[in-house]
Amino acid sequence: TDFASLGLAKPLLSALASEGYTTPTPIQSQAIPLVLKGGDILGIAQTGTGKTAAFALPILQRLAEDRKPAPRRGCRCLVLSPTRELASQIAESFKTYGKNMGMTVAVVFGGVKYGPQVRALAAGVDVLVATPGRLIDHINEKVADLSAVEVFVLDEADQMLDMGFIAPIRKIAAKLPHRRQNLFFSATMPTEIGKLAGELLKDPAKVSV
Ligand code: AMP
Repeated sequence: TDFASLGLAKPLLSALASEGYTTPTPIQSQAIPLVLKGGDILGIAQTGTGKTAAFALPILQRLAEDRKPAPRRGCRCLVLSPTRELASQIAESFKTYGKNMGMTVAVVFGGVKYGPQVRALAAGVDVLVATPGRLIDHINEKVADLSAVEVFVLDEADQMLDMGFIAPIRKIAAKLPHRRQNLFFSATMPTEIGKLAGELLKDPAKVSV
C-alpha cells in the first residue's frame, strides 16, 4: 500500500515525497484510516515505529478539511508528551508534514522562560504540543484555554506514568470539551494506563505493532 491509498490528500503526499517516505510503516497503515474517520485509538507502539506520523498526518488532514480560525489562547489539536525533547520533535514533525497547509504549531515545556510561550499562545494555534507541568501552569495563569480542542493526543503514556504525570493529565483532560477525538499511544499497557484509557477514550480501536 502507499500513502494515497490510506486516504491522505495531495499537500500531505507531496510533503511526504519530499521527506523521501515511500511506504507507510505498519502503525501508519493501521492508524491513518481510523484517525481520518474520526474515531478514538489506543495504540501500542514503540518509538521508532513511525507513530508520530501515524497521528500527525491524519490530524493535519482533518484540521484542513474543516478549516477554522485557531481559537484564541487555545488550539484545535493538543498533544501531550512526557519530555521537552520529544515534544520538540513532535512539533517539528507537524511542521514538516503540514508545510503545504498553512497550519500553525507551538510547543510549550518547562525549564525555559514563560514570555515567548505566552506570546505564542495568545493568538492561538492549530496544533499545540506540550509537557503536562508547564501546560498546567499556563492554564492556571489563564494563558492557555483548552475549550476548543478537537483532537487530544497522549503520547508515550507509560513514560508519563513513570514520570508521575498521571494526575496532571487527568487535570488537563478535565479542561477538554467532552466531544473530541482521543488518540493514546504507549509502548506498554500497565494497569494504570489501561484505567486512564478507559476513562478518557470512547470505544477505541486497538492498534498494535
Ligand atoms: P517515530 O517512531 O515517530 O519516532 O519515527 C521514527 C523515524 O522514522 C522518524 O525519524 C521519522 O522521520 C521516520 N519515518 C516515519 N515514517 C516513515 C516512513 N513511512 N518512511 C520512512 N521514514 C519514516
